Amino acid sequence: MQTPKRHIVLMGAPGSGKGTQGAILAEKLGIKSFSMGDILRGVAKGESKEAQSIKKLIDKGRMVPNKLAVRLMENELLKPENADGYILDGFPRELPQAKVLDKDLASRKYKKYNMGVDLVLLLQVPDDYVIDRIIGRYQCAKCKELYHEKFKQPQKFGICDVCGCKEFTRRADDTYETVVSRLRTFRSVTAPVIPYYEQKGLLVCVDGTGPIDVVSEKIRKIVGY
Ligand code: ADP
Repeated sequence: MQTPKRHIVLMGAPGSGKGTQGAILAEKLGIKSFSMGDILRGVAKGESKEAQSIKKLIDKGRMVPNKLAVRLMENELLKPENADGYILDGFPRELPQAKVLDKDLASRKYKKYNMGVDLVLLLQVPDDYVIDRIIGRYQCAKCKELYHEKFKQPQKFGICDVCGCKEFTRRADDTYETVVSRLRTFRSVTAPVIPYYEQKGLLVCVDGTGPIDVVSEKIRKIVGY
């Protein structure tokens, strides 16, 4: 049996299922899934000067500079508790981030940890599906489990399956207009990362249109767990 891949990048348009599949993979492999947004929001809670300037950028809806984004991500990945691997949900978001990440993880300082990316999964889903998925998306306010009005309701209406919480939230940017603009950004800014990983022989495309368990079964076979 092959050893499962444990340094995984999940790519795909917004709404393609990265968060959903990342959470399933993380549980099965016993490793953590990281998203840049969560890390930035975590850092922004701090008191330092850097934390305050990140908070300002987030509040204005601005992007964090690439080098800083990669450094913050690496700080998390290289914590001893993540030595078994990682899943990157929607990161790298643009080509310079992918290049810096690769270079750093292969550098003399980090090479010994063997933390280089070993699999990139690209979830492929047509635009009309992702619009539908994003507009119906919501999550548990406490444990962040993802739900969907049409595709994944909690088993007991209004009660989170995982933690029993009765409060749910929606992302403020999950509207039709912002989804269309995020899809455009994905095509212009993020899509160039795809051929980069393809040339390295790391990219595997996954049809992300089926039900959640069908997609996760496809991913299970590719990852090899
Ligand atoms: P991303 O992280 O790529 O933006 P999500 O994982 O948040 O995407 O998925 C968007 C929404 O679509 C969520 O509400 C999720 O429950 C739902 N969803 C995810 N995968 C599927 C699927 N295969 N079929 C139907 N709905 C899905």
